[in-house]
Amino acid sequence: MNLSVQEIKNILKAEVTLNSNQFIDTISVDSRSLQNKENTLFFALSGPNYNAHQFIPDLISRGVHSFVVSQAPQEFVADANFLVVDNVLIALQQLAVYYRSLFEFPVVGITGSNGKTIVKEWLNFLLSPDYNVIRSPKSYNSQVGVPLSVLSTNERHNFGIFEAGISTVNEMKFLAPIIKPTIGIFTNIGSSHNEGFENIQQKISEKLELFENSDILILEESAAVRQLIAKDQKIFSWSRNNAAADVLINASKVENSDTTNLSVKFDNQNFEVKIPFQDDASIQNATSCLMVLLYLKYDVATIQSRLSSLYKVEMRLQLKNGINRCVIVDDSYSSDFQSLKIALDFLESQKKHLKKTVIISDIYQSGLPLEEVYRKVASLMQSNQISRVIGIGEVISCYEHLFVNIETFASTADFLEKFEEMTFADESILVKGARSFKFEKVVLLLAEKNHETVLEINLNAIAHNVGFFKSKIATTTKLMVMVKAFAYGSGGFEIAKLLEYLKVDYLGVAFADEGISLRNAGLKIPIMVLNPENSSFPSIITFKLEAEIYSIKGLKAFIKVCEEKKVENYPIHIKIDTGMHRLGFEENTIDELIEVLKHTTSVKVQSILSHLATSDNLEDQSFAHHQLNLFEKLSSRIISDLGISPLRHILNTSGISNFPEHQYDMVRLGIGTYGISNDPAEQKYLQNVSTLKSIISQIRTISQGESVGYSQKFIAEKITRIATIPIGYADGIDRGWGNKVGYVMINNQKAEIVGNVCMDMLMADCSDIQCKEGDEVEVFGKNPTVIEMAEALNTIPYEVLTGVSQRVKRVFYRE
Ligand SMILES: *Cc1c(COP(=O)(O)O)cnc(C)c1O
Repeated sequence: MNLSVQEIKNILKAEVTLNSNQFIDTISVDSRSLQNKENTLFFALSGPNYNAHQFIPDLISRGVHSFVVSQAPQEFVADANFLVVDNVLIALQQLAVYYRSLFEFPVVGITGSNGKTIVKEWLNFLLSPDYNVIRSPKSYNSQVGVPLSVLSTNERHNFGIFEAGISTVNEMKFLAPIIKPTIGIFTNIGSSHNEGFENIQQKISEKLELFENSDILILEESAAVRQLIAKDQKIFSWSRNNAAADVLINASKVENSDTTNLSVKFDNQNFEVKIPFQDDASIQNATSCLMVLLYLKYDVATIQSRLSSLYKVEMRLQLKNGINRCVIVDDSYSSDFQSLKIALDFLESQKKHLKKTVIISDIYQSGLPLEEVYRKVASLMQSNQISRVIGIGEVISCYEHLFVNIETFASTADFLEKFEEMTFADESILVKGARSFKFEKVVLLLAEKNHETVLEINLNAIAHNVGFFKSKIATTTKLMVMVKAFAYGSGGFEIAKLLEYLKVDYLGVAFADEGISLRNAGLKIPIMVLNPENSSFPSIITFKLEAEIYSIKGLKAFIKVCEEKKVENYPIHIKIDTGMHRLGFEENTIDELIEVLKHTTSVKVQSILSHLATSDNLEDQSFAHHQLNLFEKLSSRIISDLGISPLRHILNTSGISNFPEHQYDMVRLGIGTYGISNDPAEQKYLQNVSTLKSIISQIRTISQGESVGYSQKFIAEKITRIATIPIGYADGIDRGWGNKVGYVMINNQKAEIVGNVCMDMLMADCSDIQCKEGDEVEVFGKNPTVIEMAEALNTIPYEVLTGVSQRVKRVFYRE
């Protein structure tokens, strides 16, 4: 991108305040990115609970000079360019439409229910020997992601691949003119996101809008879809059984291998293509890619050789614990410029250490001349304050003079050989390289060794769930998120960092040491300690934590510590017992509480809170109303007697859902963050956060009459295949889950747990499942869900989640 503010103003028909005619090379919507700089045009997007206008002063102080806004902040009009428009998102999309019109090259537009990102990544791999491809980074396929992807095109690119994702009606009409595909791919239609549509026809029709001006539309032959397509639309179709299709595919899986043979019949030609996958989704995705190559008139030999080297696409950025207290961001499967920017933002959001290292391979497919590419990479490293760059590859080695702090190696092997001599400690490390560099070997050396059992935490899902609850509360209501008990078992500082990045107002922990370890990890956000012991008061003050005070004794002890430390107005939180009868000032102690508070200047009542005992009871709300009334009465009395105006809060997750009129000034969101609701209607809108995974250690076949496990609780009635899985009650799997009460998923099929669950292992019946030793096993996550498991075990999801033992490694990822 290379446009002036003046040009952009004309394109957007915007009013402009100052007009310094700044030249713009980067578009940003993320105020937190360290990549924002003078030549950035920042679009201040806003949503029901989000308004980026609030970050403008900070961005100006960091050197950003140009903004698209719906309202120019009067106090800054002399300092920056403000392009004033009615709707900032529409303006972003308009700019992308204009920008797209500057490029004439072929563009593939992909939509459909599944496989969009994989088809996009594979096509990029298949076509990049012949083209300079620009593609959407990761799965940037939304109303914001699509324009950002298209706006990152440069004059050297000569082929575009963009994906579009929609979740309801009237969305595609905005994305279609931005992508303006010449070649359309409709991957398939599934049932995901059906909520946003009245029926399947409406969903298909909406998606097909992407292709209205395409030269060709590639899809699987289907009468149902055809009748929704305009008559004059040119179609290039494939099928595995319908002779009406242009291309007929017959897929046969090669036994005892990972390969599938596709026999392709097209235009009087018959040929075979091998792909290194056997699952149906991969066959479908590979076929979509094959169709593009046929349409582009690739010869058979090239098609065969390229499709045979398709690979498993890793769409996730993973966060792992490393050696010597390092944190590793693992993105070892791609090395283009756009995804580098995203990975650097992720590194920033999750950094635990000041020191940041980037290990990077040669950069592929930027479209730009090499010198320019590496100059840009070097300047990205600087703006992201990367302390050390390790460049691996012959090309990046040639350009090392452009970097400030770089050490280079000609190959991954060279680096691995020197690894022992280098130090990696107390730093955040991004590992990012093209597939061919095999950086997974680098990650293997840097990351802490995992057992086969891991708890995977989807950070996007946490962000989604927090966003969902934010949209349910008033814009003026503050949000505290509970991260006690290792964030309900999901992690520690990693989750807290993310929540700080998401700009929640407060974090809540149970004990002071939990808060202290968050402070040690660099968190700056206010943290409330629910259940502080008196002995922890001095360190609460040292670490700037805020104690919940629930008794006169505790209050006096805290005041004494403040006096000794000579601190004034230290924030405290007053807990009132309104009926839970756990912690808190009871009604008959309120007068004394007020008296003590009147006579001290050591503390300041930052908030008054209570906790509901029955907020999840959808049938009988009478006790909750009794508590709410008492809270109103007692908190009002404290406020008026002391003449103070603290925050008030009483709602937890189910309270937010069931008593929205009692939000007061803040709510305390707990389990909802981690994807659990007590209300099935609401559960639909939450995303699964935690997936407990293991593998099959060993498979054996036992005869009829033989037993499995301690106390011979399972006796085989017939010949039975038994898979042993290295996870047991010491990892948090309740023994009640054994003996066919529970199951695990092996290759997407249910395998009943047979016999007793052992301390470190359990056994499952895999007689009817195609599987081998080493295959992945899902213990909980999407299936079975934690909710389902809790019900069977006669407990609550909280216990299942927090029960996963700390010896199970947590792995965090972003999609
Ligand atoms: C744990 C806790 C919460 C959060 O409860 P959820 O049901 O997980 O939302 C809120 N307030 C207090 C005092 C808590 O202890």
